[in-house]
Amino acid sequence: MIKVGVFGAHGRMGSEVVAAVQGADDTELVAGIDAADERDAVRGADVVVDFTHPDAVMDNLRWLIEQGIHAVVGTTGFDDAKLAELRGLLDAHPGAKVLIAPNFGVAAVLMMHFAKLAAPYFESTEIIELHHPNKADAPSGTASRTAELVAAARRDAGTPAMPDATTAEVPGARGADIDGVRVHALRITGLIAHQEIVFGTHGETLTIRHDSMNRASFMPGVLLGVREVAGLPDPLTIGLEPLLGLG
Ligand code: NAP
Repeated sequence: MIKVGVFGAHGRMGSEVVAAVQGADDTELVAGIDAADERDAVRGADVVVDFTHPDAVMDNLRWLIEQGIHAVVGTTGFDDAKLAELRGLLDAHPGAKVLIAPNFGVAAVLMMHFAKLAAPYFESTEIIELHHPNKADAPSGTASRTAELVAAARRDAGTPAMPDATTAEVPGARGADIDGVRVHALRITGLIAHQEIVFGTHGETLTIRHDSMNRASFMPGVLLGVREVAGLPDPLTIGLEPLLGLG
């Protein structure tokens, strides 16, 4: 049995994780905590799953790494500075492994993989991400990651810069520029988590769309992370791709 703790246990995602851990045959819940609770409650866990808040997750990870507890992280908002700090912490305290996945949905990971494959074949690529209005960060971690993957695939293939004649712009109208890829974030009541990647070249377009209908859709990916994190080759792994054999 893998002993699992959950940070953010009463949150929208954390409560699904608690149910998934309790429902699986090979995992056992040690404790689930929220902002006001003591982290000591998860001592004894092999793995802690964190779905908290971008402002809280680094402090949680510092503590877990110091305790030698593996972490499976869904919380978004990681930038280069935070990742560099994490690598430093993991070097200073060998033992714990950290898996950060901007998206635990297997279909979402496949969407990113397919986007990477398609990117070099199109002149233009833009991303539209659509989420519920309670989301704290914009654009989503998945959209940022997709933009980076598309940009890298275009660079590797020597694809020229995207055409864009915009010279007059209401600020924000063309979305955020992530590595040269425009990303547009919609916050709409009634939605959960959705994304479209629109590719275009002369006379044809291709749209790849992913829809997450409920938060339970993320749980097979979370449980995969819980099962695999201890055996990952590197102290820090970003994305579910290596666990799905996608490289
Ligand atoms: P949420 O409903 O607001 O839940 C967050 C929970 O974290 C709350 O229960 C909150 O407790 C708790 N919390 C805050 N600070 C904490 C701390 N220091 N220690 C322990 N618990 C703490 O948010 P959500 O919708 O579940 O989303 C959580 C995160 O997951 C966000 O960053 C979101 O973008 C991300 N997310 C990722 C994926 C993915 O596949 N990677 C999918 C969906 C969402 P209190 O209520 O007591 O403050």
